[in-house]
Amino acid sequence: MGSNLDLRKFQSGKDALAIEDAFSKVVSGGKPGYKTIIERKKLPPKCEKCTKIGNPEDKFCPDCGGKMIVPLTNCPTCQKEISEKERFCTECGTKLR
Ligand SMILES: [Zn+2]
Ligand SMILES: [Zn+2]
Repeated sequence: MGSNLDLRKFQSGKDALAIEDAFSKVVSGGKPGYKTIIERKKLPPKCEKCTKIGNPEDKFCPDCGGKMIVPLTNCPTCQKEISEKERFCTECGTKLR
């Protein structure tokens, strides 16, 4: 009795978005705004000379006295997340080190 038509109507436009929204809530375990909960990890500093990983408060290496440097986690220009291995930002080409 026209129920098929009603269903199609429901799956388009705003209603489809609502379904998507509800689905993403299920996927995230029902936590509201779970995306914002994922914090940017603060990397521990690393020795410039011997590459030893130190404590967050270390300024100099306990092993060799080298300067501790904190690795970049985001591009200083476009804020794109970067991996430690990247020398240049893959988004904007900024030289990272
Ligand atoms: Zn060191
Ligand atoms: Zn960038």
